[in-house]
Amino acid sequence: MEGLREPSFRDSVEIMFNRAAALMDMSPGLEEKIRVCNATYTVRFGVRLRGKIQTFTGYRSVHSEHMEPVKGGIRYALNVNQNEVEALAALMTFKCALVETPFGGSKGGLCIDPRLYDEHELEQITRRFAYELIKRDLINPSQNVPAPDMGTGEREMAWIADQYARMNTTDINGRACVTGKPLNGGGIQGRVEATGRGVQYALREFFRHPEDVRIANLSGTLDGKRCVVQGLGNVGYHAAKFLSSEDGAKIIAIIERDGGLYNENGLDVDRVRDWIAAHGGVQGCPEGTYVADGPSLLEAACDILIPAALEGVINLGNAARIKAPLIIEAANGPVTAGADEVLRNKGTVIIPDMYANAGGVTVSYFEWVKNLSHIRFGRIQRRQEEARHELIVNELERLSADRELGWTLSPGFKEKYLRGADELELVRSGLDDTMRAAYQSMREVWHGRDEVTDLRVAAYIVSISRVAASYRAKGL
Ligand code: NAD
Repeated sequence: MEGLREPSFRDSVEIMFNRAAALMDMSPGLEEKIRVCNATYTVRFGVRLRGKIQTFTGYRSVHSEHMEPVKGGIRYALNVNQNEVEALAALMTFKCALVETPFGGSKGGLCIDPRLYDEHELEQITRRFAYELIKRDLINPSQNVPAPDMGTGEREMAWIADQYARMNTTDINGRACVTGKPLNGGGIQGRVEATGRGVQYALREFFRHPEDVRIANLSGTLDGKRCVVQGLGNVGYHAAKFLSSEDGAKIIAIIERDGGLYNENGLDVDRVRDWIAAHGGVQGCPEGTYVADGPSLLEAACDILIPAALEGVINLGNAARIKAPLIIEAANGPVTAGADEVLRNKGTVIIPDMYANAGGVTVSYFEWVKNLSHIRFGRIQRRQEEARHELIVNELERLSADRELGWTLSPGFKEKYLRGADELELVRSGLDDTMRAAYQSMREVWHGRDEVTDLRVAAYIVSISRVAASYRAKGL
């Protein structure tokens, strides 16, 4: 593919948007309004660390405010820049529309390698960054609600929520200013694992449609499918863990920063994770064979490739050598627009990022609603549900005591049926339902229109139409 120019991440998103827009009937004005990023705020701030002032650069970008608040993660990484943040904010707009969470798209980032700072320093930096954004309503329960992304997690979200509370002491809805908080700090059960769980639900839904599975030249179910995972962080770890422990998939390779591990019989995801936590990388881990050139494992023969680390890893340089017939984009933007074309021509099926990793924002939505309603899901109805179930079980028991009828209840039925759903079960049910419904909406366009030949364009068409409808409803 030498000689072809690799588009930037932002260009890639725009190229993909344009491919979909070309198939839609939108006025050029509206199309342009939806394409452009509304605003990006750049902030440089100083923090006194180790005896001297260090200056940091951060961004918060708002792509579309057709619905408010706008939503999107905050990323901590050295290569964060305005173009990347804007591309990610655009993806958030389309992701939220696709899974019907009532938000516009936003994204934030701080240029920092978080591994170079201790916890206390990171707290100082995060609080200062949050202060700058809160002061301008770029963190606010009704206007802009961040969440974790690469390099951030519950801990950073808790600091941000606390910073907001200090600056807005009378805001009763203050906790809804950020999602992905720890459970004891206003979080919701199941948020940490939500994006990985969503990847699992997305794959389960894909494998429910034999016709789609055949297009990827695969057959059967997830059981026994050989997967390669890149990035064993929040998203990659949970996806790999659930797919291997609950669906029978085999994780034959894990790629991390310092190289990869390969084991044809399947890697034990938890053991690899523990090894990385103790040694800082995969090298030396006895679970599999170490491969120093990690990215070469993206090209390994497998059934499902799961890039879950960063953008642009499947590009014009390696696309032609990718053997996986099915790729699920757990990360944002892992396949460049150029690689997307090469892969489409090869017949590779790609489950696109805006759908595949939408589990995070879906459960973030539940957390935001929980914070605004000030009550845990299931708290009011759980015992009442149990009582009604008990009536049925008592009646069934009475009937099965009648020997002439010859009925018996299956072992364990009573306990299972009586238990009312707790918050975690409700979150999972809401997430599963969301992932199924969003897949169906993409699928209808994919199979319903001749000119639509892949899931990504289908996903863009569904989401752009929804954003357009909401602009039109505003009279624009
Ligand atoms: P994370 O920081 O928890 O994990 C990233 C992992 O990738 C780490 O284990 C890191 O060591 C590894 N990694 C970094 N550079 C690598 C490289 N060059 N090669 C191989 N591995 C590398 O981040 P995360 O939250 O899991 O996010 C991963 C991706 O998923 C990002 O694209 C992010 O935007 C996307 N995403 C995250 C969420 C979420 O809820 N956290 C939601 C939607 C999308």
